[in-house]
Amino acid sequence: MQNFQGVGVSPGRVIGTIRQMPKPVSEPPSGEQLAASISTEDAIAGLKTAAQSVHDELKARADKASGDGQKVLEATALMAKDTMLLKSAAKLINKGTSAERAIWEAGASVSEMLHNLGGYMAERATDVLDVRARIVAELRGVPAPGIPASDAPFILVAEDLAPADTATLDPLMVKALVTSGGGPQSHTAIIARSLGLPAVVAAHGVDDIPDGTEVFVDGAAGSLTVEPTEEHRTAALTWLENAATLAVFDGHGTTADGHLVPLLANVGGAKDAAKAAALGAQGVGLFRTEFCFLERDTEPTVEEQAAAYKGVFDAFPGKKVVLRTLDAGADKPLPFLTDATEPNPALGVRGYRTDFTTPGVLERQLEAIATASRESEADVWVMAPMISTAAEASRFASMCDAAGIKTPGVMVEVPSAALTSASVLRHVGFASLGTNDLTQYAMAADRQLGPLAELNTPWQPAVLRLVQLTVAGSLEEGNGKPVGVCGEAAADPALAVVLVGLGVTTLSMTARSLAAVGTVLRTVTLEQAQELARLALSAPDALDAKAWVRAKLPVLEELGL
Ligand code: PEP
Ligand code: MG
Repeated sequence: MQNFQGVGVSPGRVIGTIRQMPKPVSEPPSGEQLAASISTEDAIAGLKTAAQSVHDELKARADKASGDGQKVLEATALMAKDTMLLKSAAKLINKGTSAERAIWEAGASVSEMLHNLGGYMAERATDVLDVRARIVAELRGVPAPGIPASDAPFILVAEDLAPADTATLDPLMVKALVTSGGGPQSHTAIIARSLGLPAVVAAHGVDDIPDGTEVFVDGAAGSLTVEPTEEHRTAALTWLENAATLAVFDGHGTTADGHLVPLLANVGGAKDAAKAAALGAQGVGLFRTEFCFLERDTEPTVEEQAAAYKGVFDAFPGKKVVLRTLDAGADKPLPFLTDATEPNPALGVRGYRTDFTTPGVLERQLEAIATASRESEADVWVMAPMISTAAEASRFASMCDAAGIKTPGVMVEVPSAALTSASVLRHVGFASLGTNDLTQYAMAADRQLGPLAELNTPWQPAVLRLVQLTVAGSLEEGNGKPVGVCGEAAADPALAVVLVGLGVTTLSMTARSLAAVGTVLRTVTLEQAQELARLALSAPDALDAKAWVRAKLPVLEELGL
């Protein structure tokens, strides 16, 4: 029995056979020539055959898929037969370039052309790059890049997942995700939680496990075990039985003694919001508006924005929806707002700071929010990301006021804002702790990096201290303004209890985690939560903080959380 230890980022216990995600296709060397033994006619015919089989494979997968995944696959399949792409490649082959290099270069020019056309066409630019990589893989006789196709469910092992991979990730086929890279706040982790898939990141060595090996994955413990035992099989079965209970939240966040803690959802658009409402969310605690426009090269109009925002508001009539203004930058670049050449993007012009360099965009966004809010019945709160000083909070509040927005607030995700929360909160109505960035900045550890995963956990006593200070600041001078948490920390049922003990007033998370957090919260009184918070704060490090708290919450082990 071989055990691989990583960081658990999404709970669940499953047994399955693994499939390794193929390595990205490497670029054929520039100037690579056609081998003397191959005629140009044969090379062109070979290229066409490869393109046809890429098309057929993608089309077959599209026919079995549904929703967004199906659309992505269909569009990519069509691209494999694109005449312009194949003709430009044939031209290069006729000049003596190898087939692999020819399709690579042709793909680059077609992609650039589509990109320059803008709008819908620009969105197809990345499909061409995906298709050319698939054709090159086919020509080389190596596995196609991306999520492997399979007829039976499997456990996906990868170095890390790119946002584009997730569109074709079928949660019915993928039983769990295990990556050798990626941190707890990485894209893989966030996606796994939103799909409700057990996931482990930063599990060093898993890349070498052969395809088809049977393994047991425990997403809470962060482990992958080769050659599962009978005990593992029982644990996986128990998890399946419990999953039904943990699938539905009754829409009422409370401790055992009736201390109310509304449990809200993190959403990226109307579709997410509808799902969150169906899963019992008591409102939205974080609407990441940049997710509506990640594909855009140009600023969306006020009307486009208002329509996108209203889509979310309408899912929660009469309930609270906390919208965050565009948080562009670092891992979420928006070409019309951020500079891709910044040397240190996480510390650069991101979030609220883009208003320093591109004034006007924030003002127009606030106008769109105000319009959408007037036309909906949601109780709309608006917060700015990456606020660092009281002066910024004050200026943001004035901008909201000018736009007619009643409840301005701030994200507390920069340590300076946590340390000065009393003066920051004097200017606004509420704060929401972004523990993903707060951890990254407090620990000076890039949230995307697997090797820093142990540093990059909100269980760090230093991060918990910042949460405590933020709440204390909110209570100073009779402020008493609401302080929620909308980072991934809120989705960890054990940590959620600690956060409540530290005095946070709401918890916002991926909707899939609502039931688990709600179930565990209901097993403790407020006083017990406060006791657990003191315990975590007194721990010497993150590992102990987590272990000590978990040991006092046996319900977690019972439910496999
Ligand atoms: C955070 O930083 O915790 C947060 C919620 O924002 P994001 O993950 O979108 O940066
Ligand atoms: Mg953040």
